[in-house]
Amino acid sequence: MGENKNFLESLFRSMEVNEVIEKRKCRATGKVRFNTKSEARLFVQWMKWKYQKWLKTPGRRKKSHTKGSGKPQQRYGYSCEHCGGYHVTKEDPHRYNKMKNLYNKKYFG
Ligand SMILES: [Zn+2]
Repeated sequence: MGENKNFLESLFRSMEVNEVIEKRKCRATGKVRFNTKSEARLFVQWMKWKYQKWLKTPGRRKKSHTKGSGKPQQRYGYSCEHCGGYHVTKEDPHRYNKMKNLYNKKYFG
């Protein structure tokens, strides 16, 4: 659990969040890898918090007129069969698995 805590701390404190994330990417999916489900969930919460903060930023309207732009899309955490870690995704994992099974059945069944 110590490693988990340290990672989150470095994530929250770091001004170079992208650099931290880059080091932890899964090679199979290219997504950020988390050690635990709760870590992935916390990351989703953290992105929402960042978005809420950004919404309150004065002058943000000047930059973007696109509706809903900048809103975090990643909402679901799921375990990865390739790296054994967890990833966040905007796809509903249940729906995704269902689609994947249907696909496999159709083409490999
Ligand atoms: Zn992975």
